[in-house]
Amino acid sequence: MGLSGPESETLKQRRTEITSRGLPKQKRIEGVKQVIVVASGKGGVGKSTTAVNLALALATNSKAVGLLDADVYGPSVPKMMNLKGNPELSQRSLMRPLLNYGIACMSMGFLVEESTPVVWRGLMVMSAIEKLLRQVDWGQLDYLVIDMPPGTGDVQLSISQNIPISGAIIVSTPQDIALIDAHKGAEMFRKVHVPVLGLVQNMSVFQCPKCKHKTHIFGDDGARKLAQTLDLDVLGDIPLHLNIREASDTGQPIVFSQPESDVAKAYLKIAAEVVRRLPLPLE
Ligand code: ADP
Repeated sequence: MGLSGPESETLKQRRTEITSRGLPKQKRIEGVKQVIVVASGKGGVGKSTTAVNLALALATNSKAVGLLDADVYGPSVPKMMNLKGNPELSQRSLMRPLLNYGIACMSMGFLVEESTPVVWRGLMVMSAIEKLLRQVDWGQLDYLVIDMPPGTGDVQLSISQNIPISGAIIVSTPQDIALIDAHKGAEMFRKVHVPVLGLVQNMSVFQCPKCKHKTHIFGDDGARKLAQTLDLDVLGDIPLHLNIREASDTGQPIVFSQPESDVAKAYLKIAAEVVRRLPLPLE
């Protein structure tokens, strides 16, 4: 039996919603073709550094890229991208992202003072996330990279359920304690039907700049083993390197400031692996 008229239109719309990898209640962010989330099980493993450098690496192919810092408790994007100030409002009363190095950025750090107590932030978290997701004028973006808070709590769940996400990347050090939490993160994304594109193993090796000896400070290949267990790929390895830390702290991310360096190339490789695994964007 054929369907005609408004009924078939409704079905078509439903199909579009489902193929956009979203649950029907999910709503796309206006103007954004693909959302990539960067997550980690625990803090301090290099998630924000990866998100920032990934955004810069994705933009090297003349793509329009945005960076949303959803790490509401500890926003790093203002410092790492050397940005501060209050976003202006557009005519439609949406917040305009701040721009640096060609990346449109939005962060809780632009909206509250650095010294705002964590307990107050806690009360504001959900409404802040809602604002960051729905009240930003991104213009037209090929990719929006979201720096998630660490862990698998309400914020991560809420983001995963509210917008269609093309893929998630999980960053971990090769250390058991980080890997256990990374495993939980991967499981969470699977439960909410967000495709996990792969793992990034950060700080797996340190090479002494003088004698060139390599040391595996946090372990050797832990993320690779976890990837095998979860049937996921490792998108790349980032060494523990002084220049990465210095570049982040001075607001000159390494992919921008030292694009020819080996470490920048490691982030560029990860970006290429990410793009290769993304589904085709919806127009
Ligand atoms: P997270 O977002 O997981 O909390 P960050 O990205 O903020 O972690 O990184 C924590 C600290 O470690 C930052 O000072 C950052 O500059 C540094 N860092 C991250 N990755 C590396 C790396 N591969 N080599 C050296 N320092 C790193």
